[in-house]
Amino acid sequence: MTEKLECFECEQLVEPRIEERKETLPVRGEPVEVLARVGVCPECGADMSVPELDEATLVAAFNQYRSRHGLMTPEEMRRLRERYGLGQRAFALLLGWGEITLHRYESGSLQDDAHNAQLKMAEDPANIRILLETNGHKLTARQRARLETRLREVEGDSAVERTNPFVAREDRGIYGDAVRPRAETAAGFDEVLADFRDKFSQRGEFVLGSEESVRTAVRENGVPVGYGVYVISAIRGTSREVVYIGKAGTLRHDGYGEQGLRKRLKMKQGDVPRERFFPDYIAEQKLDGLHFEWFVTVGEATDTPPFLAEALLLAAHVREYGRLPALNLEA
Ligand SMILES: [Zn+2]
Repeated sequence: MTEKLECFECEQLVEPRIEERKETLPVRGEPVEVLARVGVCPECGADMSVPELDEATLVAAFNQYRSRHGLMTPEEMRRLRERYGLGQRAFALLLGWGEITLHRYESGSLQDDAHNAQLKMAEDPANIRILLETNGHKLTARQRARLETRLREVEGDSAVERTNPFVAREDRGIYGDAVRPRAETAAGFDEVLADFRDKFSQRGEFVLGSEESVRTAVRENGVPVGYGVYVISAIRGTSREVVYIGKAGTLRHDGYGEQGLRKRLKMKQGDVPRERFFPDYIAEQKLDGLHFEWFVTVGEATDTPPFLAEALLLAAHVREYGRLPALNLEA
């Protein structure tokens, strides 16, 4: 928080001090208590409204309300949509909604109960098939084809027992996703990422705000010692851009040596320790923060070498955007 704001009490231009306190907000007439970060005037002690913080508090209250009432979170909605390979507008049309309804929900607006029930039904691919019959004409031929392909995969996935995403899938041969005809590797970056979320159950994510310590974030968010991959995205408003894809765990003579995810996320970026690199990068690029998502790929259920998982993500990024993420110098 570096921006100065006018205090409406003492009318001075000040940099608000941030305090954490419990606040109760009404959500649909129901009181919801959240731990809020609020701005306080360092001169006179009056509360100050800081738009980003107020927004974050509202999002936290909505999320608490969601979990209390079994409503899907924006993240769950995004994952559901990506599972079917559709954009926000296309998925909304398929559901028979207005074009921007899903965009609003994925951006944090609280969904109504009827829409929530529909989203839950959409988790079953059989219901998507029904929707495709009634609303398919609202999609382009290309969107329909893509959805068909994804539907077959989703249906196939639930039928085949999976232990390892990239090895021994009957339908894909021993090399799985790693060696496929080009025509079959058309998956966009988001699809590959959605696939990872499906397959690597030991996963997590967190947001690093400006001037926050990655060391603290890694500890507080329980990033494990395990081996795997991680994706760092720049947050600007509601948009996200992948800026780095990395792995933790190098295969040595005697197995995976070196640092696991927990340690790797705190180490150096180039020559600079990440503890300092990330805050500087957020400030330089004028970002709202960085989003970290990590996957343990070498675990009980899956045994995918981190460098293979990393390569699949990097290749999908190049395929979709024609280049590596900004901070990946080579692959
Ligand atoms: Zn003041």
